[in-house]
Amino acid sequence: MESNTELDDHYFMTQAIIEAKKSLKEGGIPIGAVLVADGRVLGRGHNRLIQNNSVILHGEMDCFESAGRLRGVDYHKSTLYTTLSPCTMCSGAIMLYKIHRVVIGENTTLVGPEDLLKESGVEVEVMGMGECRELLEQYIEENPDVWETELERVGYSTD
Ligand SMILES: [Zn+2]
Repeated sequence: MESNTELDDHYFMTQAIIEAKKSLKEGGIPIGAVLVADGRVLGRGHNRLIQNNSVILHGEMDCFESAGRLRGVDYHKSTLYTTLSPCTMCSGAIMLYKIHRVVIGENTTLVGPEDLLKESGVEVEVMGMGECRELLEQYIEENPDVWETELERVGYSTD
């Protein structure tokens, strides 16, 4: 039997996927995130690099921004749901605001510094959800130049 946490995780990851699909509809990279505390969504967002010609609006950053300036206690009890493993920038924000827990949809397309998060005391959970991976993989297949340019920009490798 699934625990409440597992059911919640599934529900909120589905919300993050809805955000990822919004980005896709806008012509952007399908990555989404929601910030949750006490069973309530405090913020939601999706990758807007293409849409806003932005260098910082990853799904997680857009989500933090939409939540507004929260109190420390609210960040500390929050869980961030993100469809993709958070990059260095987003992991930095997670560590800065001391987010309690991060639930990752998938980390096969790209893996961020998850060990660094764990070492900082963040609970990290990878769901390995096929839907998150398929959404992004299909986008990359159709827009390989966009993805490659993004990886080149930050020196990441998919090898
Ligand atoms: Zn990021």
